[in-house]
Amino acid sequence: MAAPIATVSDSRTTQSLNLIAAHSHIRGLGVTPDTLTPKPTADGLVGQQKARKAASVILQMVKEGKIAGRAVLISGPPSTGKTAIAIGMSKGLGEDVPFTMLASSEIFSLEMSKTEALEQAFRKSIGVRIREESEVIEGEVVEIQIDRSVTGSNKSGKLTLKTTDMETLYDMGTRMIDSMTKEKVMAGDVISIDKASGRITKLGRSYTRSRDYDAMGPDTKFVQCPDGELQVRRETVHTVSLHEIDVINSRTQGFLALFSGDTGEIRSEVREQINTKVAEWREEGKAEIVPGVLFIDEVHMLDIECFSFINRALEDELAPIVIMASNRGSTTIRGTNYKSPHGLPLDFLDRVVIISTQTYSEDEIREILSIRAQEEEIDISPNALALLTKFGAETGLRYASNIITTSHLLAQKRRAKEVDEQDVRRSYMLFYDPNRSAKFVAEFEKRFIGEDGGVTLGGVN
Ligand code: ATP
Repeated sequence: MAAPIATVSDSRTTQSLNLIAAHSHIRGLGVTPDTLTPKPTADGLVGQQKARKAASVILQMVKEGKIAGRAVLISGPPSTGKTAIAIGMSKGLGEDVPFTMLASSEIFSLEMSKTEALEQAFRKSIGVRIREESEVIEGEVVEIQIDRSVTGSNKSGKLTLKTTDMETLYDMGTRMIDSMTKEKVMAGDVISIDKASGRITKLGRSYTRSRDYDAMGPDTKFVQCPDGELQVRRETVHTVSLHEIDVINSRTQGFLALFSGDTGEIRSEVREQINTKVAEWREEGKAEIVPGVLFIDEVHMLDIECFSFINRALEDELAPIVIMASNRGSTTIRGTNYKSPHGLPLDFLDRVVIISTQTYSEDEIREILSIRAQEEEIDISPNALALLTKFGAETGLRYASNIITTSHLLAQKRRAKEVDEQDVRRSYMLFYDPNRSAKFVAEFEKRFIGEDGGVTLGGVN
C-alpha cells in the first residue's frame, strides 16, 4: 500500500517526524518582517539571500490571500536548500493556512489514479475557515477587539486595546488620546470612554493576562447592538481542508478514514456537492477560503498527464499556490521523448515563476554544518568543523551533515566530550559519499548483480 500523502492537518506533524533530522533547524525564512530583507543567517537559514527574498515575497502574497492559483519552481543543484526554503515558508504561514508536502513519486500508487492523488493533494491545500458566532458574554466589557465600528462610537465601556497594529491606532487619530493627560492610547492600555462626551480616560496598563481575558479568549468580538448596548460575543473558528470535508461526506469512506489516512478515491459528485455547499457558506458569510501551499518535491518525476492536470487545476477558483522543486537541468519529460528544462513541459514552464538556488561558499557550508551540530546538541572542535566543511565542499552538504552524527557516535565510543578531527576522518573512511560509491561500483562492477540478475564472480561467468 502506498504511503498516504502528507495532509494539511498532518503536514506539520510530518515535519516534526520525518523531517526532524534534515530540516529541524529551520524556523522560518529569516527575513525582517517589514522590508522582507533576508538576514545573512537567521531562523536556521544561511545565505541564499536572493531565493529567500523571493520566497518571502511569495509568502507575503500567500498570507494576503493574493497568490492562489500560481505556480513557483525552486530550481537549483542538489542540497542547495530548496526544501529548506519551502519548510521556511511553511513556518511563516498562519497557524491555519494549509501546507501540504508531496514527493512526486508518492502519487504513483496502485491504490488510486495519479490524478486522484493530485486532486486530493490540491484539496488538502485549501482550507475552509468556518466561523460560528455563538453565545453572548454578559457582564462588564473588559476585553474587546478594536475595530472601526467601535472607534467611531461614543459608547462607554472599558476597553483593552489588543491590537499592536499601529496603523489601526493611527487611523483612530486624535480621538484616542487621554482627555486629561493628552497621552496617546497605546496597545495594551485599558481605557474608559464616557458615554455622553466621548472622552477617553486611561485607566492604566493593567494588562496582565487576567482570568477575564482567558475566559474571553482571542476569538471574542465586540458587537454594537441596535439599541446601543455593548455586547461581547465569542466566535468559534474552525479551519478544515476541502479534502477533510470531502472525506467526511463520502459515504464509502466516512470520517474514520481521516485517521487511517486510507481515504481511497472520492467520487467527483461528492466534491461537486462540497464545492456548492462551501460556496453557499461563503455567500452567507459563514465561511472563507484559505488558499494554502502545495509543495511538490522532485517535480521532474511527474509525467505529462500530471502536468496537464496541474495546469487545469491551477485555473480552478479553489486553487492553492503550488511550489515545486527540482534539481534537474534539461531532462526528459516523463511520458514523452522530449527534453525540456527541469523536465517540465514548455507550456507549463511558461506559467511558472522560477526561484533559483546557488551552490554554497565554504563559509556558508561551515555555518550550516555548525547550525546542524548545535541542533543535534553535538560539540565539535574547530578542526573537526574545518574538515567537515572541506568534505561538504567536495562531496555535498548532505553527506557532511550526515557524518556529524556518525562522528559523534565515534567520539562517544572513545569517551570524548567533543567531536574531533579523528572522528570525522574515521567516519569518512567508514561511510562512502556518492562519488566514492560510484567509483567503487565502477571498479568492482563485475562483482555486482547485473540488470539481468546474473552474478559474475572474479570476472568469470
Ligand atoms: P535536493 O535537490 O537534493 O532535494 P535541496 O536543494 O532540496 O536538495 P535541502 O534538502 O533543502 O536541499 O538541503 C540539504 C540539507 O542542508 C538539509 O538538511 C537542509 O536543511 C540543509 N540546508 C540547505 N540549505 C540550507 C541553508 N541555506 N541554511 C540552512 N540549512 C540548509
